[in-house]
Amino acid sequence: MITGDGAYIKKINRGLILRKIIEEQSVSRADLSKITGLNKATVSVQVADLLNEHLIFESQQEHNTVGRRPIMLSINRKAGYVLGVDLDYKQIQYIVTDLGGQPVHYKSVKLDTVDYDEIVAMLIQDIQHYQSEWASSEYGLISAIIGVHGTVSNDEKIHFVPAYQWENKSLKEDLENVLEIDISIQNNANLSAYAERVYAYHDSDNLLCIMLSSGIGVGLMVDGNLQTGFHGFSGEMGHMIIKQNGELCNCGNRGCWELYSSEKSLFIKLMKHMQVDYLTYDELEQLIEQKDSDTMAILEEYIVDLSTGLNNIINLYNPETVVLTSRVLKMYPNAIEKIKRNFHSTMSQYGSLVLSGLGYKSCSLGACALGIQRFLEVSEVVLTLDAPLVATSHKKDGFAIH
Ligand SMILES: [Zn+2]
Repeated sequence: MITGDGAYIKKINRGLILRKIIEEQSVSRADLSKITGLNKATVSVQVADLLNEHLIFESQQEHNTVGRRPIMLSINRKAGYVLGVDLDYKQIQYIVTDLGGQPVHYKSVKLDTVDYDEIVAMLIQDIQHYQSEWASSEYGLISAIIGVHGTVSNDEKIHFVPAYQWENKSLKEDLENVLEIDISIQNNANLSAYAERVYAYHDSDNLLCIMLSSGIGVGLMVDGNLQTGFHGFSGEMGHMIIKQNGELCNCGNRGCWELYSSEKSLFIKLMKHMQVDYLTYDELEQLIEQKDSDTMAILEEYIVDLSTGLNNIINLYNPETVVLTSRVLKMYPNAIEKIKRNFHSTMSQYGSLVLSGLGYKSCSLGACALGIQRFLEVSEVVLTLDAPLVATSHKKDGFAIH
């Protein structure tokens, strides 16, 4: 049983009411009381506070044939904004959402450096720009949450980013020393898993999000919570060994899953076969459309290795939803069915296996959603996008052999 003083209980009630206002999008005081189980007086006092803080607003329901039109409450989306950053290899992606989690800005910047100080300077400049852009709203730009493609400790220190070869970096501190805004550093796959749950699979308490790109990142939601492990480094499943005496990985082991199932590994195999040193996603799509026999054979092999790793993870977690984030699988007809055909074990049980609708924007969106959750001090947020996301890609996106 939770015990505590009045202020603590008030805070819990406030969080519950705000959470339900976001979830319902538009709700009356009477319905809030029913949904939350809180009495009408409590709801009324809390709502008055939230109205005073301009976090919610009232509107009258348009059509109601019976009796009075009830006054509805909604989140004041324009009261403040949050920034989500995906610090990927060779590019930085920025998404700004309002307090209702709707994206109002998207930008992707190509990076031609891996130098820590240069990238920190860039981030500072960009975050300052966004702060001034949204300064006129009630709460301005509230926070910037940055997803990095590497291991991040529970106290938000960067342990290792393989693509940048960054070790033990205090990015949060380095940014907060200059910027007057809350900064948070998280692992990218964790933010993606969080986004899938918040925006897409609201009821999936046990969800795995598997990001296939230059490596493999896995974000885990277990019983509704992100699993980060003892140090914060869990989910490094790209380095589980699927082939004994296999290829040498830069982690020091041989036969790691990501050497066979990341998109980069697939591109390298195709490039070696085609004897080219660069291949774009657009070119691969054309080869698939033409049903080029060599490409199709390499893809079949890729699916088998991908399924091997997935089989292991499914056995470990018995997940309700497995979300795969992959551009290749989206362009490969019946990819999900083909993967499922490789699951032979009666032990491998899961609810559903799906391709991500949020795609590579999930990390930045998850960062925004986490910013909203923390700012509003709610236990969880359930958000729905007003419009489906449009995939943003560059013509030259692809991989080089080196
Ligand atoms: Zn490895």
